[in-house]
Amino acid sequence: MKTAFHAIALDGPAGAGKSTLAKRIAKALDFVYVDTGAIYRTVGYYIWMCGIGGRDADGVRRLIDEVNVKIEYIDGVQHMILNGKDITDEIRTPVISQYASQVSAHACVRDFLLDTQRDLAKSHNVVMDGRDIGTVVLPNADVKIFITATPEIRAKRRFDELQAKGNKDSYEKVLAEMKQRDLQDSTRPIAPLKQAKDAVLLDTSDMDLEQAEAALRAIIREKIGL
Ligand code: C5P
Repeated sequence: MKTAFHAIALDGPAGAGKSTLAKRIAKALDFVYVDTGAIYRTVGYYIWMCGIGGRDADGVRRLIDEVNVKIEYIDGVQHMILNGKDITDEIRTPVISQYASQVSAHACVRDFLLDTQRDLAKSHNVVMDGRDIGTVVLPNADVKIFITATPEIRAKRRFDELQAKGNKDSYEKVLAEMKQRDLQDSTRPIAPLKQAKDAVLLDTSDMDLEQAEAALRAIIREKIGL
């Protein structure tokens, strides 16, 4: 079913530059940016806080009803509210990246979050980034783009980001964890990371941010004239 609002779906592996690009595009087009990874991170954070393993299907199923996830936009920035507490910054650690990936493989978690994501697209023009936006969440999105880059380049970008935040992990560790997460995300049975048949592939390995943004804008302009 087509809605009156535009939806731009950006999928791809970790560190491909999706969120940076999505934020820029959303700002330029005056769309709402929806970071769906942050929603899975919020669930992962709760499970981690409870001391339950991310792969423990029974444990996650038992706890999922205790999770209340709200998204708020403060000065255009997406904030994640977990059971009334703003945990936007706490979810950006390597441990929570792994937990998000593990809990997101469970059907109960994906079902639980599906409407939250779809509801946002029903009431706003959105740029939504994630792993299954073009394939599952918004299969009728007006624009679908699959953004990727080589694992080494993605790991270098993530390494630089983490270093800037004071994290001391080595490049090798960041690369290994990223590969592990990509494998988990692309081989899970439900809503795996994959390019939608009608998505345009954008490989940003040899592009800087400005070039990648220009390439994205060109694809969007061609599809919806914006
Ligand atoms: O995008 P980000 O790295 O923050 O996502 C964290 C994890 O959440 C991913 O590794 C993936 O397992 C999961 N995720 C997902 N579906 C989405 C967005 C994120 O399964 N639409």
